[in-house]
Amino acid sequence: MTCKALGGPCDTKLSAETWDEMVGKMTKHVMANHPDTAKEMEKMHNEDPEKWGKEYKPKWESA
Ligand SMILES: [Zn+2]
Repeated sequence: MTCKALGGPCDTKLSAETWDEMVGKMTKHVMANHPDTAKEMEKMHNEDPEKWGKEYKPKWESA
């Protein structure tokens, strides 16, 4: 999957064996490369911790 497919702003490819691993890699990637996106994701997470997963996990499962 790409950063973009997970709601990020770039086309960097991220690969993982499991969704949990994917979330970890995406989180690290976003914090290192896209501080603004990281802030938005943190805000989203604080409002509804399951929102991001609900939105993007189906994309992971179909990828
Ligand atoms: Zn990115």
